[in-house]
Amino acid sequence: MPIDATLPYDESNVFARILRGEIPNRTVYEDGHVLAFHDIAPQAPTHILVIPKGAYVSWDDFSARASEPEIAAFVRAVGRIAREAGLVEPGYRLLANTGPNAGQEVAHLHVHIFAGAPLGPMLA
Ligand code: ADP
Repeated sequence: MPIDATLPYDESNVFARILRGEIPNRTVYEDGHVLAFHDIAPQAPTHILVIPKGAYVSWDDFSARASEPEIAAFVRAVGRIAREAGLVEPGYRLLANTGPNAGQEVAHLHVHIFAGAPLGPMLA
């Protein structure tokens, strides 16, 4: 069920539960600001989700409210994860669904990294 990205942050969302250690995940990368893990229902041979540790509903919320260090750490982490996974050649796709028209399902900002095969025009 797509979420209303304008609602306040809901601490019961699945990624908040992952960050609290209540649900297991297959971690790819972690630092003070960022967690990355494999998507539970991969839509490409490589499908990684990157999330900030702060409580941000969506890309809109994060880009408006996050501090400069949080934003820098997040952008750097996405690039580093892709590089360290060997995805730069032959390439990868980033996606951040924001709000109902985009089909955002989890109300905690996540950037999808898709790779590992030629990708069709749209994923997720
Ligand atoms: P959509 O499901 O339409 O892609 P989102 O962009 O909100 O919507 O993506 C949510 C993603 O979170 C999905 O790809 C889904 O498979 C993934 N997901 C949901 N629960 C978990 C979980 N417990 N661990 C890892 N990934 C999860």
